Amino acid sequence: MDFALTEIQEMIRDTAREIGEEIILPNRARWDEEDQYPSEALQALAEADMMGIYIPEEFGGMGGGALDLCIAVEELSKYCGGVAVCFAANALGAYPVLLHGTDEQKQKYLSKLATGEIYAAFGLTEPNAGSDAGGVETTAVRDGDEYILNGTKQWITNAEEAAVYTVIASTNRQRGARGLSAFIVDKGTPGFSFGAKEKKMGIRASVTRELHFQDCRIPASNLLYKENRGFRVAMDTLDKSRPGIGAQAVGIAEGAIKEALDFAHSRVQFGVPVTSFQAIQHILADMAIQTEAAKHLVYRSAAAVDLGEKGA
Ligand SMILES: Cc1cc2nc3c(=O)[nH]c(=O)nc-3n(C[C@H](O)[C@H](O)[C@H](O)COP(=O)(O)OP(=O)(O)OC[C@H]3O[C@@H](n4cnc5c(N)ncnc54)[C@H](O)[C@@H]3O)c2cc1C
Repeated sequence: MDFALTEIQEMIRDTAREIGEEIILPNRARWDEEDQYPSEALQALAEADMMGIYIPEEFGGMGGGALDLCIAVEELSKYCGGVAVCFAANALGAYPVLLHGTDEQKQKYLSKLATGEIYAAFGLTEPNAGSDAGGVETTAVRDGDEYILNGTKQWITNAEEAAVYTVIASTNRQRGARGLSAFIVDKGTPGFSFGAKEKKMGIRASVTRELHFQDCRIPASNLLYKENRGFRVAMDTLDKSRPGIGAQAVGIAEGAIKEALDFAHSRVQFGVPVTSFQAIQHILADMAIQTEAAKHLVYRSAAAVDLGEKGA
């Protein structure tokens, strides 16, 4: 299928592929086995200006959209799902600032995120708030010019590696999802600490930890958008970034098909490569067709997000 990429999208794909071949491929098994954060890969992506794909040009980014980001995530996922998650989670953490930050907040964080000088993370999920994101129990209580945060976030990608965190907390427990607010929290703020690294079954190059807030005081100016409008910030962020999760699945499938095909070509049984057998041909063809169909859906959703057609 021809996806008719623009020149810039081809450049994004080729750059990700180059980094995949040169840096990720030789290291991915070690990063995964040793649970190691892939700093070299992220540095290479930063040097190639890839960290700012989705960040407006005025802040030093490429000014691209959800589809551009998906193309990079897909290509990186072919080589290593863990690297792709670390990369994509930066956008997840940065989108709340990009979509709903004040000029001051954007100035402070976006250009550093675009160059890869700092990384971002997004803190929505909690032990009792997974799919039901409105069930957030972390609280933020206004105290003069500050908010005081208390609670725990769970499964947070890039935790401890990131310098900036966008965190959803409740400013009005009675109002449920309508009482949530979004905040920026800098690493190093007193009362803000990290849990142990989660031992995952896969994508182990990406780091996943809890965020702990204990009487953590942040300036009131770190509020994003408006008080009690944090659910909207979270949903707008997920609208923009969720096609990237699909792109990750597609990239991992494409990478797996390539590995399977290479093996099937080189594995000889009964005097011939096993690709000569009809059953193997069917399985490989079926995998390729299903992955191509999924890719089509992901690209369509990302393009729709770029056109502002939510829910497509
Ligand atoms: C590796 C990893 C990285 C992550 N990174 C981040 C991050 O950076 N920031 C962050 O905030 N979160 C992060 N998450 C959390 C992730 O977004 C949640 O795991 C997700 O929201 C689902 O929540 P849950 O795991 O608690 O599952 P649950 O909500 O407990 O769901 C359990 C099962 O029930 C199903 N289910 C739930 N509701 C329904 C329904 N209404 N209808 C049908 N089925 C349903 C689900 O599909 C699932 O199969 C990460 C998770 C992982 C595994």
